Amino acid sequence: MRQPRAILVTQGLSKEFQGFRAVSAVDLSVAEGTVHALVGPNGAGKTTLFNLLTGFLKPTAGRITFDGHDITGQPPERIAGLGVARSFQVTSLFEQMTAREHVELALQSGTGLGRRFWRTDTLMRRFSGRALELLGDVGLAHLADRPAGHLPYGQKRALELALALALDPALLLLDEPTAGMGLEDIDRTVALVDQIREGRTVVMVEHNMSVVGSLADTVTVLQRGEVLVEGPYDRVKTDPRVVEAYLGA
Ligand code: ADP
Repeated sequence: MRQPRAILVTQGLSKEFQGFRAVSAVDLSVAEGTVHALVGPNGAGKTTLFNLLTGFLKPTAGRITFDGHDITGQPPERIAGLGVARSFQVTSLFEQMTAREHVELALQSGTGLGRRFWRTDTLMRRFSGRALELLGDVGLAHLADRPAGHLPYGQKRALELALALALDPALLLLDEPTAGMGLEDIDRTVALVDQIREGRTVVMVEHNMSVVGSLADTVTVLQRGEVLVEGPYDRVKTDPRVVEAYLGA
C-alpha cells in the first residue's frame, strides 16, 4: 500500500516564554487524509502547538511546512488562506446573530468578499444556500434562524465546526471538540467528525480517550512540551510511558 504523504510537518519546533520551553523540539508528521490526535496532561504544550501551527504564535526555533509551503512564523490569515482552519475551544459566537448569519459571514470572509463593497444578490443567495447546506452537515439546519446565544452548548460547538468548514479547509484543527459535553453530544460529535474528515486531514487536541480511540489514526502524546510517544492508538494507550504520564507517577 502506498504511504500517504505528510501534509503537515514540524521540525525542531520550539516556543519559549521568558526562558520557559512550552514546546520543545517537536517533530511532527501528519499524514494526509488521517485524523491525528494530540494528547497529554495539562500544561503539556498542546494549545501552544496549535497556536504555532495556525500562526497565532511565532516559534522561537524550528520549522513548519504545510502542503509544501514553509509557513513558519507566517500570519494567521496567510496560513488560513492556504487551507488551514481551526475550530476554537472557547466559544466565539455573537449572541444575537443567527446560526445562518454566522455561516454566511464565514463564507464571505473566506472568499475575501467581507472586505468589498459590492455584494450582488445572486452571490448573497449562493452564500445563503451554502450556509444552509453546511448547517445541515452539522445537524443544525432546523436551527438556522435561531440566534447563536439561544443554542444549547453542544449545538454552539456544532456551529463553530460549521464556521471552520465554511473555509473548506484541507487541514482542520479541532481544539477539544468534545470538551464539556454530555454523552449524547459526544457521540454526535464523534459521528460528525467521522463524516467531515472525508477528503481532509484533521488534527485534534482531545482529552477524552474513547473519542481519541474512535477517531484517531495516529496519536502523539506530549509531555512538558516534548513528544513522549507517537503511534496508533492501541499501541500508544498501553505504552508504559503513557500510562505513567497519565497516572502522574
Ligand atoms: P496544554 O494546552 O497542553 O494544557 P499549554 O500549551 O496551554 O498546555 O501550556 C504549556 C505551558 O506553557 C504551560 O506551563 C503554560 O503555563 C505555559 N504557557 C502557555 N502560554 C503561555 C504564555 N503566554 N506565557 C507564559 N507561559 C505560557
